[in-house]
Amino acid sequence: MSPAWEATCIQMTGSPATGPGIFTRFLHKEANEEDSPLVPSYFEFTFGMRRDENDDPASVPDPVAIIPVGGTEPVRIKGRVDRIDITPDGRFAIYDYKTGSQIATRNEIASGKALQIPLYLLAYEQISHKQGVLGGYYRIRREVEDRIVLLDDAGRDLVVSSNPRATKDFRAALLASLKYSAEYIRGIRAGEFMLPAEEKCQNPYCEFSTICRFDPSRLFSSTEGT
Ligand code: SF4
Repeated sequence: MSPAWEATCIQMTGSPATGPGIFTRFLHKEANEEDSPLVPSYFEFTFGMRRDENDDPASVPDPVAIIPVGGTEPVRIKGRVDRIDITPDGRFAIYDYKTGSQIATRNEIASGKALQIPLYLLAYEQISHKQGVLGGYYRIRREVEDRIVLLDDAGRDLVVSSNPRATKDFRAALLASLKYSAEYIRGIRAGEFMLPAEEKCQNPYCEFSTICRFDPSRLFSSTEGT
């Protein structure tokens, strides 16, 4: 057994020296929600993707097509949902598992910079004819955290171990994400690949800065285009 594999096993299962592993901490986290009517129902649920043996047997082959409000052309969505929890009365939650440090914030969703969770909610609504009420992340690192980033008022009773803030106008937030997607598709087709204003290069000494798109003053200081 290599040292790296041994360390991974200890991280997962724990040891007397390091304490409980990720599996145990994850189960404790889940146990906090045992009184919730949400039932973990599907895992690695794919739609519109080639299904492999690890995907949920309930996966569907076709993508989902949804026309944004005010649009004419559908946005076609495909994906793999890490986990879907469903209540007996037909509401559901979407969760994505993350092992890295970055997970999308509510602000990033509201500003169209994080589309995954809202689009998955809309897509599974269309597939299942159930009502999406909650979307969030599990961040699985040394500690196991869950972060709810979209919550409908109609889903507040489903979270029993904490009191997350409901999303102001949850339905409008989902539809806004769909509209952002349509706009991004239009821009890509038109060849528009603008750098977001907030993107900055971390290297102030780069010798290529005058020709790099990261230099915000490039167009002013060069003779390009004249
Ligand atoms: S090429 Fe552009 S992004 Fe890369 S280091 Fe230079 S200035 Fe920064």
